[in-house]
Amino acid sequence: MGAVGPDYGFGLYIHWPFCARICPYCDFNVYAAKDRDTAPLIAAMIDDLIAHKVRLSAHPPVDSVFFGGGTPSLLSEAEIGQLLKAVNDTFGIRSGAEITLEANPNDVLRSAPESWKAAGINRLSLGLQSLQDEALLFLGRDHDSHAARHALAATQKVFDNHSVDLIYARPGQSLEEWDTELNRVLALGAPHLSLYELTIEERTAFGKRAARGELHPMADDDQADLYELTQSLCEAADLPAYEVSNHARAPQYESRHNHIYWASGDWIGIGPGAHGRLTIENTRIATEAARRPAGYQANTRPSETPLSQIDTAREFLAMALRPVSGLDLKRFEQLFGAPAEREALEDLAANEWAFVEDDRLKLTVSGRLVADHIAALLTP
Ligand code: SF4
Repeated sequence: MGAVGPDYGFGLYIHWPFCARICPYCDFNVYAAKDRDTAPLIAAMIDDLIAHKVRLSAHPPVDSVFFGGGTPSLLSEAEIGQLLKAVNDTFGIRSGAEITLEANPNDVLRSAPESWKAAGINRLSLGLQSLQDEALLFLGRDHDSHAARHALAATQKVFDNHSVDLIYARPGQSLEEWDTELNRVLALGAPHLSLYELTIEERTAFGKRAARGELHPMADDDQADLYELTQSLCEAADLPAYEVSNHARAPQYESRHNHIYWASGDWIGIGPGAHGRLTIENTRIATEAARRPAGYQANTRPSETPLSQIDTAREFLAMALRPVSGLDLKRFEQLFGAPAEREALEDLAANEWAFVEDDRLKLTVSGRLVADHIAALLTP
């Protein structure tokens, strides 16, 4: 296979599946935190890491560890330390590796960010979601705009490398409202923003409300207008997009962990429902752990699906189109066994969706809006 695997980065994703409360739009594998004894889950995760190490004895130390969820900021400093020690004792952590914790504002205010830094975290990703109380209420978040601002200020005192998540394209949100809100966030000076359009998934509380006609998702054209506005405001604020939904002030603030996904590197997923991609003896393997915490604790061994060459190539294509640095056309040829069709590339250029530069296919802003369609057009 050669064109995918740990040469393109090797990461570890740790899924902490508990949340203080479940947001109505959330489609992740999450459970109410309640008063759980978390020790068995931590022990299971460590067993899972050890088993992965036995399987992947030739893999290098990890370039990135990402605590995601769920709400991993519910983990104690000691638990984070325990997990990072296990990573060090198994695969090892490369010097200068990125170690990210996703955090909710209330947890930042409750437990000092210094303690996370002392445990080994060097990048904090803060789930602000909005700076408007009305929007936070609509999104079912358990923090208000005051807490959001305070949490960001507390984060900025400790972590130079930090990111803010926002959700836009909410029902009824106007261009003017988003313009004001995004400018307010940009003024707060975070060096990285992840800006996601609200998607309403069928099996969520929002999905059920939409099915009953009580909630009306924003029309695609309006979403596209908001996306274009987002690009121009971020560009003007020196926070250009480096990927469809991600913006950074400088390359050192880009998410190295996500770059592993976009580059079709390898990553281990541990924790309930976590997904991974492993390249073993030239075969790409998709892994998925048991979804329910009790099931995972009983058996951490993930299910494994070997991916065919064409599925590997398709996945590479879908991911590689996302970063602004573009799709490496040589890797495309290596994986698909044929170069990208000249006619398809010319059509993309004629539509102003993409252009070729230095043997890479790069999407324009309007191309980013139809990235999935472009992937389909390029698939031989
Ligand atoms: S806090 Fe995040 S992971 Fe938890 S329910 Fe809300 S959106 Fe989902």
